[in-house]
Amino acid sequence: MSHLCRHCGSPLSHEVIDLGHQPPSNAYLTPEQLALPEVTYPLKVFVCTSCWLVQLPAHAAAEELFTPDYAYFSSTSSSWCAHAERFVKAAVEGLGLGPESLVLELASNDGYLLQYVHQRGIPCLGIEPTHATAEAARAKGITTIERFFGVALATELDPADLVVANNVLAHVPDINDFVAGIARLLKPTGRASIEFPHLLRLLAGNQFDTIYHEHYSYLSLRAVARIAAGAGLAVVDVEELPTHGGSLRVWLAHQGTAEPTAAVAAVGSAEAAAGLETLEAYAGFQHRAEAAKHGLLKFLLQAKRQGRRVLGYGAAAKGNTLLNYAGIRPDLLPAVADRAPSKQGKMLPGSHIPVISPDRLASEAADALLVLPWNLIKEISAEFPSYQLVTAIPLLTLQ
Ligand SMILES: [Zn+2]
Repeated sequence: MSHLCRHCGSPLSHEVIDLGHQPPSNAYLTPEQLALPEVTYPLKVFVCTSCWLVQLPAHAAAEELFTPDYAYFSSTSSSWCAHAERFVKAAVEGLGLGPESLVLELASNDGYLLQYVHQRGIPCLGIEPTHATAEAARAKGITTIERFFGVALATELDPADLVVANNVLAHVPDINDFVAGIARLLKPTGRASIEFPHLLRLLAGNQFDTIYHEHYSYLSLRAVARIAAGAGLAVVDVEELPTHGGSLRVWLAHQGTAEPTAAVAAVGSAEAAAGLETLEAYAGFQHRAEAAKHGLLKFLLQAKRQGRRVLGYGAAAKGNTLLNYAGIRPDLLPAVADRAPSKQGKMLPGSHIPVISPDRLASEAADALLVLPWNLIKEISAEFPSYQLVTAIPLLTLQ
């Protein structure tokens, strides 16, 4: 069966990487669910050679992946909240937002970002389809609509001065409809901020573990500019961020309302220089992923032989991709500690490794911790100075 590009509709024929069949990475299992069959889908990324959008064909409907008990709460990461607070301060000052303005966030999660807008007395509204996180946002006083976003919902809402869609565009199956919805929602002088992990960093940093089913598109500036243009929007500015291993924050406005900054041309040139719109950029990615997998397996097998106990830290989506691709099970990694109470007591999808509270690390007698969310390594090493920390991406590294 040939899949079609979600932006331009061309058949997808060029495979970038195949990570095997995997369950949805956020489908944490209860002990009762372990007795039932587990659904897996192919985790295979393609690049469209017509519009160069790198993408995962949608096998599972978004409703199946972002379930009502979706377990990811943004506020559990303190560095992520600090990032959101800095964003709000800069945006409010830069755009001159006040009590007459409206800020709308798409995929507002548990209100980790809008809480800082709300605190400044600026009207705001969250759109968040998963119930548990929407409820947590409401508890912070943030009005939240529990629906998926697109043109249909945009036509029902008041126009906004600022639309924030940070770390959601990559997770949207119908990317054209989503961006057209943003265009519909923006006031004539409005701005939209879109953050996404940068495809350039994914390839350069061997970040194959950031590939999972909820992550449908792997975006470059040029691909986003092409999709935005299709909806009547233009990229007017771009910032490079260290988050998620290297992200872009792209600012969109209605076409013809602002001149693009020099940064837009600079990032576009860097992408061209890396050959993102040629097949050469994607050759060898599979081989580099295999090297990281083999490095991790070798480390875990050696530790096992030496009687050293290695536990995981951070039950993040990217950890599940890595553990399932590498075929790691509880015999090599007996538990993964995570601060989110919603994950504790459950099992990781696929690998069935139990999630425990970090308070139990001492009684579990861990000798080393495999840090799965390697992008938070600084925060985690400050928290656990007494353990040897290990990361597996881009290649196995003893911290
Ligand atoms: Zn295409």
